[in-house]
Amino acid sequence: MRGFDIANITLIQGDEGWIVVDSLTARETATAAMAFARQHLGDRKVTAVIFTHSHADHFGGALGVLSAEEAKARNVPVLAPEGFLEEATSENVMVGTAMVRRAAYMYGSRLPRSPQGLVDTGLGKAVAFGRVGMLPPTHLITEPEQELVLDGVRFVFHNVPGSEAPAEFTFSVPELKAFGGAELMSHTLHNLYTLRGAKVRDALKWARYLDESLAHTAGAEVVFNQHHWPVWGQSNIQDFIIKQRDTYKFIHDQTVRGMNAGHTATEIAESLRLPKALQDHLNVRGYYGTVSHNVKAVYQMYLGWFDAHPANLDPLPPVEAGRRYVAAMGGPEQVVAIAQKAYDAGDYRWSSELLKHVVLADADHEAGRELLARSFEQLGYASEASTWRNVYLTGALELRDGAPEKGFERSAMIDMLEHTPTERFLEAMASSINADKAEDLALTINLVLSDRNESWVLRLENGVMFHRALPPDTQANATLTLSKAFFLRMMTGKAGASDLLLSDEVDIEGSTIDLARFLGLIDKAPGTFPIVTR
Ligand SMILES: [Zn+2]
Repeated sequence: MRGFDIANITLIQGDEGWIVVDSLTARETATAAMAFARQHLGDRKVTAVIFTHSHADHFGGALGVLSAEEAKARNVPVLAPEGFLEEATSENVMVGTAMVRRAAYMYGSRLPRSPQGLVDTGLGKAVAFGRVGMLPPTHLITEPEQELVLDGVRFVFHNVPGSEAPAEFTFSVPELKAFGGAELMSHTLHNLYTLRGAKVRDALKWARYLDESLAHTAGAEVVFNQHHWPVWGQSNIQDFIIKQRDTYKFIHDQTVRGMNAGHTATEIAESLRLPKALQDHLNVRGYYGTVSHNVKAVYQMYLGWFDAHPANLDPLPPVEAGRRYVAAMGGPEQVVAIAQKAYDAGDYRWSSELLKHVVLADADHEAGRELLARSFEQLGYASEASTWRNVYLTGALELRDGAPEKGFERSAMIDMLEHTPTERFLEAMASSINADKAEDLALTINLVLSDRNESWVLRLENGVMFHRALPPDTQANATLTLSKAFFLRMMTGKAGASDLLLSDEVDIEGSTIDLARFLGLIDKAPGTFPIVTR
């Protein structure tokens, strides 16, 4: 079923009911999709759930497919690739605030749904808003190849970790001559780097797994993936996969060739073109990823942010550079006039570059903001990639209307965060320590999660919080004992320091003042920040 969300939900008929492959992003869209299936295909129960990989658009709606109670009561198998739970529940904990804010650009979630606004994301119409949850897997696929019978249907799973997602598998259903390609393959060039920000992906591994899928699909008459439409017929399938494989391999190899010839990422991105045989193939065109930003991903993977030019080693930060560029060019009015000429000539990249400095130097420069917004709009309308279009159009929108007032609420993810290992929260907590306030403090806090048999010693010194899994330190300033649920409420901002001090679900030993001082060091990110202005 396509179109309920950015990803697909796939039903495979078993002896007793449906094996559900992936569950969309939100409980609401998954519920709607299952109701649609029951209306048209008859009322069948869910006999197994398969999560192909650790991205939220493939599991977040799990509780709309099957409630946790029913899954438990009927012992419904829930399958996932090795490493799934950890990757799935941790992706957003460390840098979720920044990533979600940036994702609004890439997915165009603030744009009006209109010909001048959001029309697509490249992977599907749009990302759903709603409640994100999780059914923890009961069976993990840990071998490179593993066979399993679910509700009378034989599956052969193939793990493909560290490619499109950190934990992912594809699978064959030999008796149905079908192959599920998860998100390893799709009808677009995918991302080696995603514009929301994430660790870059390994093009060589990705191409290698695609090559291996040629053998896995040798008997298949249909390949269905978890985005876009299926591919029918053996020769179409082989061609489809070969073109995908060679596109990633080409981008990788030719970027590396350019790097070794001394070219920078922007130079390679500017000049690299796919061979005609690949360029003409619609399923590898840049609707989601682009050759340009994937080239930069390969460069980043091997050589990182520094292009080796000494002037780029310690450049002035954006506002300071902006001020000086604008002054050097004769002041903001002069720069806007030059930019207007570029705009009139259709040179929107150059008008954007010029006006970026005007707006960074002075966020209140109305004429600069408006012409920059119009330049972004033109760049957006000229982009084939939905992600680029959305980034440009959201930039234009925010130049006119400002950044959103409300940011990302982690509490919408509480159903999912329940399955996140405590250690991930402690790492995130350490990354929220206000270093200026913490600089001269040395504190030891014991954290005991009474219902999980977990005990952590948190040591703060040198402006750094370090955690260790140890029994409570008898020399600690304070010992905080609470349930995992309360700890989660704290970590998602649902419970503040005063709730903690007053609650009877919490036990505090030692110095309450030191504990309050420690908690006072943990910054709560506002969840929203300006991007196109400073
Ligand atoms: Zn996806």
